[in-house]
Order: sequence, then structure tokens, then C-alpha cells
Amino acid sequence: MERIPTFSKGGVHPDDKKVLSNGQAIERLPMPAELIVPLSQHLGAPASPLKQKGDTVAVGEKIGEASSFISADIHSPVNGTITDIRKITLANSVITDAFVITPDEENPLKEWEVQPYDQLSVKEMLDIVKDMGVVGTGGATFPTHVKLMVPKGKSVEALVVNGVECEPYLTADHRLMLEQTDMVLRGIMLVAKMTNPKKIIIGVENNKKDAIKALKDVVAANGYPITVMPLKVKYPQGDEKQLLKATINREIPSGKLPLDVGAVVLNVGTAFAIYEAIVLRKPLIDRVVTVSGEAMSTKRNLRAPLGAKVADLIAFAGGLDHDPDKFISGGPMMGFAFYDDQIPVIKGTSGILALDNGPSQKTPVSPCISCGRCVAACPMGLQPTKLYRLIDNRMYAEAMAMNLMDCKECGCCSYSCPAHLPLVHGMKLGKRLGRK
Ligand code: SF4
Ligand code: SF4
Repeated sequence: MERIPTFSKGGVHPDDKKVLSNGQAIERLPMPAELIVPLSQHLGAPASPLKQKGDTVAVGEKIGEASSFISADIHSPVNGTITDIRKITLANSVITDAFVITPDEENPLKEWEVQPYDQLSVKEMLDIVKDMGVVGTGGATFPTHVKLMVPKGKSVEALVVNGVECEPYLTADHRLMLEQTDMVLRGIMLVAKMTNPKKIIIGVENNKKDAIKALKDVVAANGYPITVMPLKVKYPQGDEKQLLKATINREIPSGKLPLDVGAVVLNVGTAFAIYEAIVLRKPLIDRVVTVSGEAMSTKRNLRAPLGAKVADLIAFAGGLDHDPDKFISGGPMMGFAFYDDQIPVIKGTSGILALDNGPSQKTPVSPCISCGRCVAACPMGLQPTKLYRLIDNRMYAEAMAMNLMDCKECGCCSYSCPAHLPLVHGMKLGKRLGRK
């Protein structure tokens, strides 16, 4: 029997719960009455505002400009009027200024048409990706044009596309691969033109067999030089380090980046955004969001304008069936709990979950029993139990010396701990305080 690849060290197998929404085709969220569009939707410095209260804005118009090398432009998702600029707190606790936009009642959106793109140089394509505000849509939100700039003297051996979507409940990427197969693949071929890799691989976990087939069919029909690689289901395979180990058997050394081992990694949602940016000149102004969890009346995959409030998505999905234990933005393993349904969808929002059991369950904490499960589960080869003890005793320098900064905050340690110790929260705190 053919061996299905995966990464070797650590990892866990949470119930994937994808059946709740993976049969739900992508639907467009009706335009909400108000959008909240933050200036910080990406990793790096917030964008600088280009508009003021009272200004009218056109759909796709730049309203915030990247303010440093690691930053990204922000565009209006609608034709409308800026009614306010106010401070908001995002699900990840970032406090940022945000435009409050009232969409025009008539024609708030526009049709995007194909623009000439065949003759574009690599620099022109990179400039377009930057100008369209594209960032990684898998959750990391790193500005994509920076990632795609291959420094002189470096070459790309492999372009590895992340179709893993290993977080439980999330099915947005799955639906995108299934329903927009051609656009995702064309986006990948545009990235290949910009980075000139020797090989191109899309890694897709084996619980998305229909998407794997759709990708393989379109690759074969077009003769694309792309390998669609099914991967064994294991969390956190969507992380760059684990994905490169699984697909090209490369390990990224501590403190290094994929390019240091000859790889460029990007998400399928980002490839789709790159297609829209280069072919349609459409900025990143909307995205697919999975709305799921046991407490939701119905589970959906919604294409929502950035700035739509979580409450709008939940209402369109039929509202809550009952009070959830917890709301999460993103997946249950790495996402952020939130308490305010007025927070907006931003470029990295892959899911809105209303959970009442599973990984979010509140359980009493007991003392460590030295079982070693957290150590076995850690995909980074760290010793979570020792790190947690050091952090608990405020011995941050000692924790740093034990490679605390290599922690990916994947949550595998917390998930496996029978004592229910909040290990990943300890790691996050230790990293923050240890850096000072
Ligand atoms: S959260 Fe950090 S310490 Fe815990 S398993 Fe993941 S990488 Fe290891
Ligand atoms: S899994 Fe929990 S109980 Fe077991 S060694 Fe790690 S911290 Fe201790």
C-alpha cells in the first residue's frame, strides 16, 4: 500500500468536526448595514489612514497605506461613506483604529473584469500583490509581497502550497479548493512565475478527497507542473515547519525561515487572493469564513466583506441554537476566544466558531503527573512541562535558554495534558515577558 506522508515529530489527532460544514457550498453574505474596517489586519505595522470621517469611498479604493516594510495596504470593501474612525479591539487583543463605513444602498459592490496580465514582469506582479493588500489568509497574515521577494543569490527549490486546513471545524479552504479549483491553481502558477521554483507541491490532508480529485483533474487537464500530494491527517500539519517536513522532508532550523531551506510556502486562500489581485486587479476585500460549532443553528461557509461584524455572519447562519461555552475566531487549537460579537472579519479570519464542547471545554486543573504526554505531542521537540514550570516561577531567561521562542503556540501540549494545565497560555505569556 502507498505510504501517505506526514511530519514525524509530535502532533495530535483532535476530532476534526469538519463534517459539520464541509458539505456547505460557499454563500455570499448579504452586504451588512455597516462595516468596521481596521487599519491593522496583518502582521507588522498598522496602515496609515488615507481617509477622514465624512469621506465617500469606492469599492477597492485604497483607504489605508502600508506604513513600513512589513505592513499592508487596506482597501474599502464597498462603495459608501466613512461615518466614523474609532478604536476597536480585535479578537487577537490588538487595539487598532478602524473605519466605520456605511455602504451605499444601491450598487455597493462592482463586477471585476479580467485585466491584461500575461506580459507583466516579476516586479510588476510583486507590485500588484503589494498594491492589492494581499497577506497570508491562513491566519498568519504576513504581507505576501515580502514573502515572494526572493533575495539575490537565493533560489527556490520548492513552492509548497498549504491546502492542509488541519484545524478542526474549518472548511473554508476545502470549499475554495473544491469550488474555485481553476482560480486557486492559476494563482499558484502566477506565484511560480514570481519565484521560479524547481518543483511545485500542494499538500492536502486526506480528509478532503473530493478537493484532491478536483485539483488533480484540473492539473492534468492544463498540464500544470504541480504535484497534488495527499497527506495523512495530523495536527499541526498546516504549520510551515511541519508542512515542509511532510512534503519535501526538509527541516527548518531554529530561528530560520522556509527560504533558508529553499522553500516558499503559502496558503491556498492566499493563492486565490493572488489570482484575484493580478488577473482582476481586485484588492483583498473579502474572504471565505467558516461559521460553525455545536451551538450554531446551521453551519456555513460564507464569503464576507472584510469589516462585516461577527454578529452579521452568525445572524445570516440562522443564529445560535443555544448559548455556547465559548466563541472562537479561527480554529479551536490556535484561534482566539472573543466576547464581543461586534468585532469584524479581517484578512486572517478563517472561522467563527460557537463551541460547547471538545477542545474549548472548561475543565478543572490538577497538578502535573509527569506523564510526558505534552513532550511526546510537541511538534517542535520542546519540553512543555519544564517550560511551564520555569514560566510559572518567572524564570523567563531559563525558559528562553530552553528554546521557548521555537514554540509555535499550536496547543498540542495543552490538548494532550490529562491535568488540563494551560500549557500553551503559559508559553504565550513566557514568550511575551521573556522578550522584554
Ligand atoms: S504550544 Fe508550543 S510547547 Fe506546546 S506543543 Fe505547541 S510548540 Fe510545543
Ligand atoms: S502532559 Fe500535563 S501532566 Fe503530563 S507531563 Fe505534561 S504537563 Fe505534566
